[in-house]
Amino acid sequence: MSDTINRRKFLKVAAGGLVVAGAGVGAGYYFSKENIKSKILIIGGGAAGCSFAARLLHRLKNPDITLIDPSDRQYYQPGFTFIASGVFQPDEVWKPQSECIPKGVKWVKDKVVALDPVKQTARTAGGESYSYDFLVLTPGLQLNWNKVEGISLDTLGAGNAHSIYDFVGAQKTWAAIQEFVKKGGRGVFTDTYTKLKCGGAPKKICMLTEHWARKQGARDNVKIDYFCSSDALYNVPLYTPRFLEIYKERNIGLEVKTRVKGVDTLKKQVHLEKHETKKVKEFDEALGKEVEVEKKIITPFVEDYDFLSFVPPQSAPDFVRESGLSWTEGSLAKDAWVMVDKDTLIHKTYPNIVSLGDVAGIPTSKTSSAIRKQLPVAVQNMIDVMKGKEPSKKYNGYACCPIVTDYGHVLLAEFDYNKDADITFPFSLLDMSKEQYLAWVLKHDFLKPMFFYGMLNGWM
Ligand SMILES: Cc1cc2nc3c(=O)[nH]c(=O)nc-3n(C[C@H](O)[C@H](O)[C@H](O)COP(=O)(O)OP(=O)(O)OC[C@H]3O[C@@H](n4cnc5c(N)ncnc54)[C@H](O)[C@@H]3O)c2cc1C
Repeated sequence: MSDTINRRKFLKVAAGGLVVAGAGVGAGYYFSKENIKSKILIIGGGAAGCSFAARLLHRLKNPDITLIDPSDRQYYQPGFTFIASGVFQPDEVWKPQSECIPKGVKWVKDKVVALDPVKQTARTAGGESYSYDFLVLTPGLQLNWNKVEGISLDTLGAGNAHSIYDFVGAQKTWAAIQEFVKKGGRGVFTDTYTKLKCGGAPKKICMLTEHWARKQGARDNVKIDYFCSSDALYNVPLYTPRFLEIYKERNIGLEVKTRVKGVDTLKKQVHLEKHETKKVKEFDEALGKEVEVEKKIITPFVEDYDFLSFVPPQSAPDFVRESGLSWTEGSLAKDAWVMVDKDTLIHKTYPNIVSLGDVAGIPTSKTSSAIRKQLPVAVQNMIDVMKGKEPSKKYNGYACCPIVTDYGHVLLAEFDYNKDADITFPFSLLDMSKEQYLAWVLKHDFLKPMFFYGMLNGWM
């Protein structure tokens, strides 16, 4: 249960050629760096922003790159689920931001509060203004804790209501799960109705808790229920049947189309809403007869819990919403995701803006594995635009969600925009419609070092 691979080991393994999947930087680049003297601004230095900067440094000769990010720490957020299940220690999932922002990039430790794509400037909370020729928009997403009534980020854990979508929250969750399994009772697990980062994470913590209870010989003491916002537990055809089977086999109650409205932490009750579309008969004045129409019906209800796991609704950050760079129509408009072309990741109105990662308005899952495949496309296309050319690379929507089904197995869901499975070698040799031990090894031992030493350094 510790960091089983350190930097030295990782480099050895990578050099040995075991970690080849996804490496997208060709050696040729290092001998032919582009001499482009544009002012590049990166907003947000997380998984996408830092890795983008590192890749640009591989491709451009002495580039002028400024990166704005207020955070002291770079978190490996996929590790939050493992903190919340006792697999990782909290200090294993972060590094100081100063070690992650590549040398050669000017780091402004501040927060962008306003962005003007016409004037090509960004203003920070500190009152400074930064101009750019090209903008990389990668501030991730905003967790809207205030959209769950009765609880906030500050009161997280009150009334045993927890969320793994926060570093401290994940630590509190692990303490609470152990206590819950010891004492027994009802565990209620929920997700959210907006697009969310790693849609698999709320399901993972549910299945891990169920397995933890079995490992402790306490399964009969706990009842476990999952309330899902979507129409289905999972919506990639190859993986859905096994998911449903697992929930059934393990006696995890499942309710779909159900949203969390709020939490009464004193009564330990979660307020939910069932959102359904039903056919009802209505009298049509014009036709003078009854007709059948589809109506959205919202039914509120309340459930008691002893332990609750919830997820805050999510959107693009406010400054993005106010910048005019978001979608104005379609399903991605409401939460203000950035209006990029889904193939090229270049902004639809402003070709000098590229956006990737969680904030990007593209119809795929918000995961760092998706970012790993977006990076070579976005970097190449921005360089193409800088050189006055058409963007040459296309992203196929690849995302990977390593769904931990128990302590020792992962259902590695890899898919593209069409929700077709897009399985990486050597997993393509296995039956990936089922959970696999090898996928657990990848998730447990490799993905974190791949992130910190490979991806953030622009190597994969
Ligand atoms: C519980 C959980 C489990 C997950 N599990 C997985 C998994 O198993 N596999 C997987 O691939 N992915 C997983 N993810 C998702 C993954 O962590 C994200 O998709 C990824 O981190 C997104 O990268 P990003 O660069 O877009 O945003 P982030 O990594 O969140 O970085 C955004 C950066 O922007 C900065 N920023 C924010 N606002 C501003 C501003 N106004 N001005 C300047 N800077 C700003 C922030 O400080 C931050 O450094 C998980 C996430 C969570 C929370």
